[in-house]
Amino acid sequence: MTHEERKDLSRTVLEGLSVGDAFGEAFAYGCANVRQRIQAGIAAGPYWWTDDTAMAIGIVECLHRSGGIAEDMLAWIFSRNLKKDPDRGYGKMARRILDRIGQGENWMEVSSTAFDGGSMGNGAAMRVGPLAGWFADDLDRLVTETWKSARVTHWHPEGIAGAISVAVAVACAWQTRGLPASEAGTQILTEILKRTPESGTRDGILTASRLDPMISSAAAARILGNGSQVTAPDTVPFVIWSALRSLDDYQEAFISTVEADGDCDTNAAMVGSILAARLGIPGIPVEWRESREALPDFD
Ligand SMILES: [Mg+2]
Repeated sequence: MTHEERKDLSRTVLEGLSVGDAFGEAFAYGCANVRQRIQAGIAAGPYWWTDDTAMAIGIVECLHRSGGIAEDMLAWIFSRNLKKDPDRGYGKMARRILDRIGQGENWMEVSSTAFDGGSMGNGAAMRVGPLAGWFADDLDRLVTETWKSARVTHWHPEGIAGAISVAVAVACAWQTRGLPASEAGTQILTEILKRTPESGTRDGILTASRLDPMISSAAAARILGNGSQVTAPDTVPFVIWSALRSLDDYQEAFISTVEADGDCDTNAAMVGSILAARLGIPGIPVEWRESREALPDFD
């Protein structure tokens, strides 16, 4: 991939991520009826994006500045963005970690001691999409860069495993975009299981791979979790399952993800990242993109 292609794919994934985030947030309340509400026609926007998008934007800034993940820079960008624009629904621990980094503490010290062993939250996975777009042609490099991007705030192996799973899913969704969905799904899953370190998150994905794709997403979520605990193992397996069974339909993937309740904005942000990598900008409903709060311009 050329530098321009990396920038473009990263941006495309950010579009899918931010639309999922903003709409997931807007439809989280009363999510059991999300299908009827969407089919009735969406209300005028803007639909505001949340911390998922804010942190993904931070990753994009780091990529534009340094061509990869420079951890000190990324920690600084995250904490500056929180200070500049704090009301984006950041979790309590994320705030605490980023506040301390902003006060000059070393990110490694802060991240590794959070929750007594590091955070296993889903926050490193929710923001990783654009990084996966950037390195979509090189999975070895992507896994290394993802590991670095995750541990700035999520030191725990589960937090990192979740980010790797989603990153590999996004990159492989792009690599397999020319294949029929069922074949692409099999390849994506194989690569995720190969690249994700042994963890509860990986175990959950293995369980997800054996679930009947015809069951309802709420039923799948009862088995896999739905992010209501905001941890990676409680979030990522369901997200992968939900994305893979609707790989050709952004709107359907969004609806069935949000129907399962839980961490709706984050779940939809991750599913949106994966679908956008496969389908490109034309796969995202135009009306949704146009009514989502604007994203910053990086060029
Ligand atoms: Mg959020």
